Order: sequence, then structure tokens, then C-alpha cells
Amino acid sequence: MSDPDVIVAGAGAAGLWCAEVAARAGARVCVLEKTSRCGTKVLASGGTRCNLTTTLDAAAAGRLFGARGERFLRPALRALPPAAVRARFEQWGIATVDAPLEKVFPESGRAIDVRNALERAARTAGAHIEVGAAVAGVARTGAGWRVELADGTRRDAPNVVVASGGKSYPLTGTTGDGYAWLAALGLPLVEPVPALVPLLSPAPWVHELAGIAVQEAELALCDASGREVARRARPVLFTHFGLSGPAAMDVSEPVARAPALEFTARIDLVPDRAREQLRDAWLARAAQPGGAGVLGALNDVTRAALPRRLLERVVAQARCAGDARAAQVTREQRHALVEALKGFAVPIRGTQGWDKAEVTAGGLALSAVDAGTLEVKAHPGLYVIGELLDVQGPIGGLSFLAAFATAELAGRAIAARVRV
Ligand SMILES: Cc1cc2nc3c(=O)[nH]c(=O)nc-3n(C[C@H](O)[C@H](O)[C@H](O)COP(=O)(O)OP(=O)(O)OC[C@H]3O[C@@H](n4cnc5c(N)ncnc54)[C@H](O)[C@@H]3O)c2cc1C
Repeated sequence: MSDPDVIVAGAGAAGLWCAEVAARAGARVCVLEKTSRCGTKVLASGGTRCNLTTTLDAAAAGRLFGARGERFLRPALRALPPAAVRARFEQWGIATVDAPLEKVFPESGRAIDVRNALERAARTAGAHIEVGAAVAGVARTGAGWRVELADGTRRDAPNVVVASGGKSYPLTGTTGDGYAWLAALGLPLVEPVPALVPLLSPAPWVHELAGIAVQEAELALCDASGREVARRARPVLFTHFGLSGPAAMDVSEPVARAPALEFTARIDLVPDRAREQLRDAWLARAAQPGGAGVLGALNDVTRAALPRRLLERVVAQARCAGDARAAQVTREQRHALVEALKGFAVPIRGTQGWDKAEVTAGGLALSAVDAGTLEVKAHPGLYVIGELLDVQGPIGGLSFLAAFATAELAGRAIAARVRV
């Protein structure tokens, strides 16, 4: 395409969405994609089902990005709330369904339908997409921007959107190329680290619990001084290397930022029951005739919600004898059992890293970007959207929501600039 109004670097979730919005509004859009196909990460997402947004409203979804992220995303989520993401996909022929944990999936359960819809919509709107076109750099010219390609060729346009994604799952094509381009322009970057990633535990007993999933759990991540640094109520999964599942992955960023430091994951295994309720249930059970053992009594007190292997570790953590009778348990031991149920301690050190991280935390500092247009301040015509920004939410369709919503605003802003 000759003389595009805008070049979009990266045909992922954000790049395709932005291309569609800008092209539909009349801009001449050229998308350059490094790999041989569009939206590879979309294809891999949600276990190939693609959790494309959330059932939460814009305000509740925004809060999940933390105070800074919430503030930054406010205009974007106002322009494109989660319900509008669904409506847009429905318009493109992709029916969506609600799922547990506030997730939204395509009714077909196929991520490929989502990817195809995004690509088709961008092309139908008039965007020109080139695959196998790796961008190597972005530089300012007198009139706008020059995009340098890895094959040595150059393209000029008055506007450039950098939508090359983060560094996680590098096999999908996102290898963090955009950070170097932004750094070369002198823009401030928050160090990118793997996030939404499983946690490693150095303790062999944790690995022995592999396969146990606790659906109703609340995990508090504490640093070596005992200070709580993150918390999330979501399922937890014990694995051969540590902890996974949404609760563990959602709190992973602080661990990734300090991979050599010790953390403790304190897991509330019975979040729906207060300490006093557990204590009263224990006392009632211990008083029953028949002399229940500690493990049997714990099983009753927790309403058979936890597997025996895990209860054995709870007993060990409370320093009780596994073969003791419930009636023999002292007041201190009872207290320790309740504490072990409400704050089961799992030592954590490090994460599974880039290869297993769903997203990248860190990226272009939000202070450098106009939240209303996604234009980089003091760099007219340069826009940065999607995962490349220093904004990160938990698992649950929030990453796509942020990618689409920032893309929406950038697409609109570029179209408005082109019309002037
Ligand atoms: C396994 C997995 C599962 C996930 N599941 C979900 C989920 O269910 N729900 C959810 O909300 N989020 C999910 N995510 C996160 C989500 O996929 C990303 O946050 C989202 O894709 C980010 O969109 P983006 O457009 O910024 O980046 P990407 O979608 O990664 O797109 C970036 C594009 O830029 C291209 N590119 C990179 N470098 C260059 C270059 N030099 N030149 C040209 N093109 C380049 C890449 O090839 C890619 O196509 C998942 C991530 C992973 C890895």
C-alpha cells in the first residue's frame, strides 16, 4: 500500500482491532506483521478457547488493574466497556457466552473464530495486512514516522501504532521487539517481567501435592518480612514445581520482580468459613462419641472439601500427630490447625518465567502516554497500545479487554487526525 495514513506494527489483538477502527473511519491503514499469520497469541489464548473479555462492567474491570492502571484505562474502558467488546464480536458474527469466574468465551469455544473475525473485520474495513514483514525500528522524520523493516526496506507514514506485544510465550512471535524501539526514542520503560505465570516452590513436599486443585481458595502473597504484597480469591493448583491456577498466577508479578527472594503463599483453604466457625465446628466434632481421629475431624470440619493428602499437610503444618484423637488435641494445637487451614503456608521462590507467562508486566511508562488517545506525549503521530504498555490485570479476559480498549481509542484518534 502506498502512502498509508498509519502503519500498525503487529497484527495481534490490539493491532488488528486498531486497524479495523481506523480503517472503518476512513484512514488508509497498513499493518505489518512479523510472523506468517495474524493473531497467534489469540489462537493460543484461554486454552485455545479465548477468554475474550469479562462479564464485569467497566468500573469493576478497571479496578482489577490497580489504582494506576485503573486511572489510565478509564477513558479507554469508557469508550469500549466489556459489553461493547462482546457487542462488536456479535456484529462480526461471533456469539459469546458467560463462563464461571466472570469470563466470556466465543460460543463455539474456538479461539480461531475470534482470530479470524478480528482479521476479517480489519480487512473488510479496508486495512492492508502484510505478513512476514518484521519491523526493525521506528524513527522520526520531518513529516511523520519512518518504519524500518528487517529486510532493509523502509515505509513512511504520518502515524505509527506500535502494537508488537510483550515478551511472554516468545514462540508465538512476541519477543519484546517493541521495547528497543521505544528505548531508542528515549522513552521511559518499566522493566518488563513475566506475569500471570505459575510460581516455583523450593519445598519437595509441595511438589508431592501435585494434581490437587482447591477451587474455593484465597491466596495472600507475603514477602520475607511477612508483609502481604498481593491477594487474590481464585482456584489454586498444586503442581510438580509449585503453585499454578488463577490465584497463584494473578499474584506472580512481585515474585517475578524479585526472583531470588523468598515469599510465602498463605492460602486460605476455607475462605467461606471464619476462624470461630471452624473452632466451634471442631469442638462440636471432638465432643461427639466415637473418638474421631484428627484427619477425620478435619475432613468433617471442612465439609469434605479438601483431599486427604492436603489435610495431612495441614496437620503437619500445625505440628499435630496425624494419628492423634480429636478429643486429645490441645487448645494450642486446635488454634494451629485453624491457622493452617486459614493460612496454609507454601514457600515460593521464582516463577516459571517467560515461556509460561501469559503476559508481560512493565513496559512503556504510562506517564509517557496520553490516556485519551494512546499517543505518546511529545511524539505526535506515535501511538502505543496493548501489552506493550505498563498496564496489567489478572486472568479473566482482562488482557484482551485492555488491548482492545486501548486500540479502540488509538484507532479513533488516528481517524480524527486523518480527517482534519
Ligand atoms: C498462552 C496464553 C493464553 C492467554 N489467554 C488469554 C485469555 O484467555 N484472555 C486474555 O484476556 N488474555 C490472554 N492472554 C494474553 C493475551 O493474549 C495478550 O495480552 C494479548 O494478545 C496482547 O495483545 P497485543 O496485541 O498487545 O499483543 P499480541 O497479541 O502478542 O500481538 C503482537 C503482535 O505483534 C507481532 N510482532 C512482534 N514483533 C514484531 C515485529 N518486530 N514486527 C512486526 N510484528 C511484530 C507479533 O507477532 C504479534 O502478532 C494469553 C496469553 C498467552 C500467552
